[in-house]
Amino acid sequence: MKRSSSQITIRILAFAVLLAAAASCFLPKGTNSRAVQDAYSLDLTPNITKGLDLIGVAGHVQDKGSNPDNSDGRVHIGVFGGEELMKMTLRDYLIGVTAAEMPAGYGIEALKAQAVAARTFTLKHMTGELKCKSGHTVCTDHRCCQAYISIERMKKNWGEGFMEKYNKICEAVDGTSGLVLTSEGELVTALYHSSSGGKTENCEAVFAVALPYLVSVESGGEEASPEFQTTVCLSNKEFAEKINTAFPDAMMVEPAKDVEVWQRTDSGRIALIRLGGTVVSGQQLRNALELKSTNVEFEFEDGEVRISCLGFGHGVGMSQVGANAMAGEGADYETILKHYYTGVKIEHYKYETDLLAILSATDAEKKNPGDEARG
Ligand SMILES: [Zn+2]
Repeated sequence: MKRSSSQITIRILAFAVLLAAAASCFLPKGTNSRAVQDAYSLDLTPNITKGLDLIGVAGHVQDKGSNPDNSDGRVHIGVFGGEELMKMTLRDYLIGVTAAEMPAGYGIEALKAQAVAARTFTLKHMTGELKCKSGHTVCTDHRCCQAYISIERMKKNWGEGFMEKYNKICEAVDGTSGLVLTSEGELVTALYHSSSGGKTENCEAVFAVALPYLVSVESGGEEASPEFQTTVCLSNKEFAEKINTAFPDAMMVEPAKDVEVWQRTDSGRIALIRLGGTVVSGQQLRNALELKSTNVEFEFEDGEVRISCLGFGHGVGMSQVGANAMAGEGADYETILKHYYTGVKIEHYKYETDLLAILSATDAEKKNPGDEARG
């Protein structure tokens, strides 16, 4: 088949898109009502500025051994709330994250799985292996780190149901206190999302980094969730305008002829798509149209573009809806976590040795007078 020069140009563009994807971890912004770590700015590269806001491990000497089930309460963390830095215990932070990230009505075992994933993700920031875009240890922006709500917000959100729901969230956090996910002795990058649409995604398909514990798995029981499948309808004109605004090189005129899915990932999500005169990644498409996922099908009929989306979020790691479905079928949090994070171990984190060593090193760096003297 003879190829036109424009087709060849598009092939080159597609290659450039793939290269860009491989070189960057920056992802399109999600539009989630509650956060699912759908971070366009989630950077999986190591952070060389360790623990900027690590406040310390309070009372670790006095408490050591006296209350091993409450180890989260001895660790303090600085949480950047957009304008101010809030200082709190790791326990209180994880309660706020779990309450923000997962409906309190979900099964207790799903909430426990969420708490362990959130703790692991947080400690990965505290040890400096992941970094927050704000420059602080963690922030409350779900597009960057994890969502967080204060107790005051929980009271407003839950009204008369506050005490019951708050106690349930506390049970999830305290019932797993100090537990983290590890792989080959290291904390894992415990990504999670709202709904996978039936199958989770390989890490490298979204973040350009392959991790052995973040591989695609089946995620059953999600069908009943309102987030399982969503549909967006746009007129041809609206669709073309949105695409041309986001991607000026598209110069789209007739969507039915100008939209062509070129490549899907193993789980069915769009990897590459031609939009008129340009080729973009599924994540770029999702960002431009504010879609709930990249698992998209198009229909063109009666002057309209009908976009059906499966799942909600990037699809990597634990599906929160799937976790709740598993909990409903009697699975405990360990079974849920080991299903979504392949080959991981669930272990007690050594706050007293591992985190203190990092804190000590960080303090020593801060006290180095040479840093201020230079420049
Ligand atoms: Zn952040």
